[in-house]
Amino acid sequence: MSILVTGGAGYIGSHTAAELIEKKEDIIILDNLERGHKEAVLGGKLIVGDLRDKDFLKKVFSENQIEAVIHFAAYIEVGESVVDPLKFYNNNVISTLNLLSAMNEAGVKKIVFSSTAATYGEPENVPIIESDKTLPTNPYGETKLTVEKALKWADKCLGIKHVILRYFNASGAHISAKIGEDHNPETHLIPIILQVALGKRDDIKIFGNDYGTPDGTCIRDYIHVTDLADAHVRALNKLRADNTSEIYNLGNGKGFSVKEVIDIARKVTGQPIKEVLAPKRTGDPAILVASSQKIINELKWAPRYDKLETIIETAWNWHKSHPKGYNI
Ligand code: UDP
Repeated sequence: MSILVTGGAGYIGSHTAAELIEKKEDIIILDNLERGHKEAVLGGKLIVGDLRDKDFLKKVFSENQIEAVIHFAAYIEVGESVVDPLKFYNNNVISTLNLLSAMNEAGVKKIVFSSTAATYGEPENVPIIESDKTLPTNPYGETKLTVEKALKWADKCLGIKHVILRYFNASGAHISAKIGEDHNPETHLIPIILQVALGKRDDIKIFGNDYGTPDGTCIRDYIHVTDLADAHVRALNKLRADNTSEIYNLGNGKGFSVKEVIDIARKVTGQPIKEVLAPKRTGDPAILVASSQKIINELKWAPRYDKLETIIETAWNWHKSHPKGYNI
């Protein structure tokens, strides 16, 4: 039996696929390669196709013996979601409904779903716990929350069991530097900082310095992508072991401000990294930090790369060896 990894050619998907391969799991990667990279697929079988195509999906499930699904395929850029929310509903919600229908028809009853801290919106607590209220402040978070709600009913009414993982700031790259983060255009803080260090950009723009934080810049919880990947494997094994649904946060429980991240990147790279002040980005909460106590307690998850220096070092190794991303 195989594990179907949708979006397995993307950033977090490819790192999870790598982790599954290491654990000797039999995997099938399904990706439309719109934003994923075939070079990020280090093993398993790659099927190129789109979750919006129901006939294609039906074929995938009828032609393969699928035990469970790990579902990453989605659009992820918050800014883009504000510009074109319907595109996000189409790709993130409708695609997932198609996937759940195909799973249901084929009798596949286990799914690990890639969700986000953006489902919480402006947090009511620091750190955030899973039972906190979910009021997304952008369409991206709303589409992920909509899927979470569909999963709840797919469980109650159809018996499809889920583990939902709400990630905080995924970052870093595989320790081998063979795979890493390559978005086009890039919008995330750490890769942009490292592009400045590489001389590919002139400066890093700090989006606002008058937030209610010690240095005025936003605080986020950065978690290494391989630690995220490991959590997916544990989530899969949890479904195999007890077949019950659950939601877990995934972060390191430590917040770093934008300025602190830039300073650590200067130390890691030895480059000056010019910063300039820019206007605030719409919908950016001041502080987002996770409590991951639940997954630590229940799935015995423990981050291997929890120091921000190490996270940035692995990202730096990837960016240095792949200055043009997967185009080398
Ligand atoms: N950020 C920034 N300049 C950039 C990109 C990001 O100041 O060029 C800030 C952003 O406002 C946020 C933090 O860095 O507070 C992390 O942003 P990112 O887009 O990496 O992740 P997000 O928290 O939006 O998921």
